[in-house]
Amino acid sequence: MRTATFLIDNWTLMRLGLLGGTFNPVHNGHLAIAHQTRRALLLDRILFIPTGDPPHKPSRDLAPAKDRSEMVRLAIAAEPSFALSDVETARPGKSYSVDTVRLLQQESGPQARLFFLIGLDAFLDFPSWREPESLLNLCSFVVISRPGTAFRALSALPLLPPLPVKALADLDEGRISTLEIPVGNRHLICLRLPPSEVSASHVRARIKQGLSVANLLPPPVESYILHHHLYE
Ligand code: ATP
Repeated sequence: MRTATFLIDNWTLMRLGLLGGTFNPVHNGHLAIAHQTRRALLLDRILFIPTGDPPHKPSRDLAPAKDRSEMVRLAIAAEPSFALSDVETARPGKSYSVDTVRLLQQESGPQARLFFLIGLDAFLDFPSWREPESLLNLCSFVVISRPGTAFRALSALPLLPPLPVKALADLDEGRISTLEIPVGNRHLICLRLPPSEVSASHVRARIKQGLSVANLLPPPVESYILHHHLYE
């Protein structure tokens, strides 16, 4: 399975969202941010991109990429504007976001505008990624609020231009919901969404303790986990 090219026609700009993650497992928080970001930024598609298996010793807590991908497939089956990408799971060894974005831009053609969706917690690590400056010129970053992290923290992040501290505080306090800043050839878009407390680690911990995860996961994902005895 390869990701198809998602051009609407030769002339129309395609707005393609990329949501990468371990998806260990995919949960309602992921689906909520994908739906809400698609609506807020008028994205045509969102590609869910699970990470591949780690190159060395398999981790006890990380389900195999095959299972994590299958759970994503089940979770998004009813939503035609969501798609699963195997760009990272099909590649041996560790994948770097910069390579993934370059490949997806190539596959989608020059009419595609790429938006890299990421939780604020994860974006704070961005300066340590491979070729972060190239990435800022390849796609727009959509940094999504996550409980426990404040947008104000972005002002201390290297590699970004000076950010308007007052506007970041306005985002944190809920006085505004979107802040768009030109960065490189693209944009940094900060998006405040209704908070979702769900995390995959919380889901795994509850499964380990034999507690219900019914309102944290789409039902087919919950069934898959039970059937395959994942995270026990
Ligand atoms: P874990 O708890 O194992 O660290 P996770 O719940 O953060 O996992 P990931 O697959 O690592 O899930 O997340 C993929 C992306 O989705 C990351 O950018 C993460 O910040 C974002 N994300 C996940 N859950 C939420 C949430 N509840 N609200 C906002 N962003 C989220």
